Amino acid sequence: MIKLSEVEPGTESRSASRRALQSARRETRDAAETSAERVPTKWLYRILGIAVLMTAVWVLVSSLGGIDRGPDPNSPTQGSIPSNYDPQRAMLYLTKLCDLGPRPSGSPAMQRQQRMLIDFFTHQGATVMMQTFEIRHPEDGSPVPMANLIASWYPGRPKRYLLCAHYDTRPYPDSDPRNKRGRFVGANDGASGTAALMEMAHQMNDLPDDVGVDMVLFDGEEFVWQQGRDEYFLGSKFFAEKYRAAPPAVPYRAGILLDMIGDRELKIYYERNSLRYARDLVKSVWKTADELGVRAFVPRVRHQIDDDHIPLNQIASIPTIDLIDFDYPRPGIGAPQYWHTEQDIPANCSGESIAAVVWVVHQWLKQQ
Ligand SMILES: [Zn+2]
Repeated sequence: MIKLSEVEPGTESRSASRRALQSARRETRDAAETSAERVPTKWLYRILGIAVLMTAVWVLVSSLGGIDRGPDPNSPTQGSIPSNYDPQRAMLYLTKLCDLGPRPSGSPAMQRQQRMLIDFFTHQGATVMMQTFEIRHPEDGSPVPMANLIASWYPGRPKRYLLCAHYDTRPYPDSDPRNKRGRFVGANDGASGTAALMEMAHQMNDLPDDVGVDMVLFDGEEFVWQQGRDEYFLGSKFFAEKYRAAPPAVPYRAGILLDMIGDRELKIYYERNSLRYARDLVKSVWKTADELGVRAFVPRVRHQIDDDHIPLNQIASIPTIDLIDFDYPRPGIGAPQYWHTEQDIPANCSGESIAAVVWVVHQWLKQQ
């Protein structure tokens, strides 16, 4: 996907005020250190006293059965995730996908992935269809086979929803600071959305009687060999054009796109294009997350992202939102950046994050 805007308005001024606060704190600390030099013995006794007291408290608490460190600040949820959403299983799916290696469109690894997923979704009870087309390779013009994978549950039901993700990986980690032609397995950018839909497949026996779901894995989201020249969203454009040309008897009421939701420090903000095309849907999904205590869903605008939801909204008129955590692993000046680098690997992802998102989307579906 392509990020269009950096940060929400107001962040600049907030970081400026944070800087001011930090410098004020520094000044206070400097003043304290200066006076400490004047009365070193007094301070030494105080520190020693505090240390002795803290050790005593620690010994007491430990003897009573261990220290409760409180909730993990990186946990995506306030409480625990219900046991039918399985973080370990979701992580296993993500790892299996990455073990196939880099999976750009048309590659042997993509074909292995397709066989694995057709087998998986069929086994889970879905009706699987491959929507195939062909493009010209942007580098040499050779034909490249493309295929969107569509796994349908309860196609006869009157309320239909679209859940989607992309399953191709970018050919190279071209934002890597060291090795732009290195190995890119797309653990978060590619595998996390796919693994989420695999985990979601286990939840499909628990839906309202009138709700049906199509899961679509888009090919060619970023068959981009040269930024600025090559086209994004090939699979979702093809899907949207087919949908517009031959609308189904029962159109989708809504679509939810999952992309980069495997981050260990998951924070999913409102995405600006999703608000533009499907504001009510955004609000409704975040409301479900709030009711469940899934705090990884933050009800504030942050990035504006062009992703597979754009063709779905613009061409197919399916109101579709993008659930995406673009800050991988976290926002901030000086923070590492794993997006489109060799660091987008399973070790930087978390099954809890994927399971939390599946929980929210599944519960949201059950409320429809
Ligand atoms: Zn990407």
